[in-house]
Amino acid sequence: MVIKIHNTLTRKKEIFKPIKRDEINFFVCGPTAYSYAHIGNFKTYTQFDIIVNYLRHRKFKVNYIQNLTDIDDKIIHQAKESKEDPLKLSEKFCKIFIDDMESLDNTAVSKYIKATERLSDIISQVERLLKKEFAYQTSDGIYFNLEKNKDYGKLSGRTVLQAEDATTRVDHSKEKKNKGDFCLWKFSDEGISWDAPFGKGRPGWHIEDTAITEKEFGSQYDIHGGAVDLIFPHHEAEIAQMESISNKKPFVKYWMHTGFLDMKKEKMSKSVGNIITIRELLKKQKKETIRFFFASQHYRNRIEFSEEILEQSKNSLKKINDFITNLDKEDNDGTLKQLKEDFYNAMDDDFNTQKAITILYEFMNESNKTNTGGKQTLEFFKDINNIFKTFAFKGNIPKEIDDLAKERELARESKDWNQSDKLRSQIESKGYHIEDRKNGYALSGTGIPPI
Ligand code: AMP
Repeated sequence: MVIKIHNTLTRKKEIFKPIKRDEINFFVCGPTAYSYAHIGNFKTYTQFDIIVNYLRHRKFKVNYIQNLTDIDDKIIHQAKESKEDPLKLSEKFCKIFIDDMESLDNTAVSKYIKATERLSDIISQVERLLKKEFAYQTSDGIYFNLEKNKDYGKLSGRTVLQAEDATTRVDHSKEKKNKGDFCLWKFSDEGISWDAPFGKGRPGWHIEDTAITEKEFGSQYDIHGGAVDLIFPHHEAEIAQMESISNKKPFVKYWMHTGFLDMKKEKMSKSVGNIITIRELLKKQKKETIRFFFASQHYRNRIEFSEEILEQSKNSLKKINDFITNLDKEDNDGTLKQLKEDFYNAMDDDFNTQKAITILYEFMNESNKTNTGGKQTLEFFKDINNIFKTFAFKGNIPKEIDDLAKERELARESKDWNQSDKLRSQIESKGYHIEDRKNGYALSGTGIPPI
């Protein structure tokens, strides 16, 4: 198996070689928690969900972490407007975000980590940057000195001078050495602040991610993702911070970036005002349709959203579901073998879900023509549905499995972890997976026992 990934750092498709053989450390930037996330955000999160599902399907152990920015200027500003405590506000929106992720079946994330849970790690990184003189102090904060980082710009191809345009409010200071220098720690009492050896304040945006990943993965790891808007300055700043601290390169081996979701030919964003929240959309469309819409496009493509396009996705998905429901004939072993080969080749080639789904349609057309397709074909569709989570099957989960899951719930309620683990193993040995959710559990799987 050879998986290729388009790496923003080298601007090339590269053969994927994780640092450890079978284990992947994967980080994707989470949202800033001050309002409802929109479907543009969920394009990125769903496409990464599918990618991580695929890597797990290919038997990698993936430690998939997302941060939640629960303190920053936007949160403080919003809290002032609504006369709320900033941390209460962000806590509320962190919960809403995780609920929204679940409502779309985006459950691949292993752990969500809030910035405020990692303040001591953030402070430690700022201290080390100060000590190594990559950072300096002014009267209003600690800043990263771009002049000290010769590599700055290697991810985005932009220069230190261009960094001037990319600063946000937290980065502003009249005393900075270079206009593009970014803030690591802001001395401030506004909204909320924490004690630190260098002065009371709050963290800058870029430092929370490197503090989290250093603690979780070490100073180097496999894959970092986000949409293309984060390449500069956010991801560039992360590289500058972590490589300066550790002196180890590359900080991240593979950088993956998703293309935007547009609406009315503009990037969907709160500032433009062209947003639809996932909650609104889920009132009109099923989660499977929305996931299928995202899966039908290559993750790097920039795509336009409209209700009509979603209707088309709904019809396309229905064709697959109708096909699956009628798989009661003989399998054609030759075409099925070819389907598997073509499907995995497409997915291994930079997670080309768009091509993989086209291949499914070609196979369906051929099977319909020859009136073939039975149990083995059905099993294949069930198997790949663990990646996409979009197809519908008749009588998906047998009662026997559901009963085991219910029994496990009772064991968990009475904190009988041994029994709960035993029941999980039993469920898994029968080819199903159980995931714990906030309100219960979710079962999936094909019924094909692991080898
Ligand atoms: P934010 O809360 O703005 O930091 O965004 C959260 C995530 O959604 C980041 O990975 C962004 O890059 C991504 N994102 C924001 N807007 C869009 C969009 N219109 N299309 C795709 N991804 C987006």
